[in-house]
Amino acid sequence: MITILFFLFGIIIGSFLNVVICRLQTEETLLGRSHCTKCEKRIAWYDNVPLLSFLILRGKCRNCTDEISWQYPLVEFWTGILFALVGQFIFSPTDPTSFLPTIFYLGLFSMLVVIFVHDLLTMYIPMIMIWIALSWTAAYLALSQWLAYSQSSGMDGIPLVSLPYIFAGVGAGIFFWLLVWVSHETWMGMGDVYLALLVGLVTGWPGVLWAMTFSFGLGAAGGLTLIALGKKGMKSQVPFAPFLVLGVIIVALLPKMFPILQYVMMF
Ligand SMILES: [Zn+2]
Repeated sequence: MITILFFLFGIIIGSFLNVVICRLQTEETLLGRSHCTKCEKRIAWYDNVPLLSFLILRGKCRNCTDEISWQYPLVEFWTGILFALVGQFIFSPTDPTSFLPTIFYLGLFSMLVVIFVHDLLTMYIPMIMIWIALSWTAAYLALSQWLAYSQSSGMDGIPLVSLPYIFAGVGAGIFFWLLVWVSHETWMGMGDVYLALLVGLVTGWPGVLWAMTFSFGLGAAGGLTLIALGKKGMKSQVPFAPFLVLGVIIVALLPKMFPILQYVMMF
């Protein structure tokens, strides 16, 4: 039941993220009413219900019957799924210590969805979203550190719970910066360096090694698939941010979905 509520909340947030993604490209304000990108007609509230409206209208604008991009229902659906997974595996209504991670991951996953789709569509990482996500994660680490400190007896000194995360973030950032420097920005861009810093801050040590393994593994598989399908040549650029986003989401969720992996992923 709670999982379904998280899913419904997720598709509503996903609908908002679609607006953020579009307006990041056109630099419009977030406050304007949503309108059809083709005929500019305002979209009525009853045609703006997440997921449902797309199905009822069969993916076409009611006014000009121009096709609505699949981006809208896909972002809504996957944001719903991510929220449902947080509701199922991170949130626990009887455990108050789960509330802070729940809020953190709902916010972080929303920002990662925007970065994922924006990079896929434009090959650019929206830096404003990176700064917001880095601040969000830094605040979470600071709060976790403060909670651990205030609950410690002081007998064994201050527990430095956020240290492995800072270490992993700086390490991943330096590694990606070296890749950019060696390749003269042909393999990666500076946006990927900041995103790698974020991946490390979220997954910590040794989680960051798993996140990078998944990212490069999926990136290689995705790149080879595109080459095999003839869509990309050996030299054409494939946006890498989506694979980093998938890596961090997998490492954040998998050990909670399958607790046995907590022991495997220690190494
Ligand atoms: Zn229209």
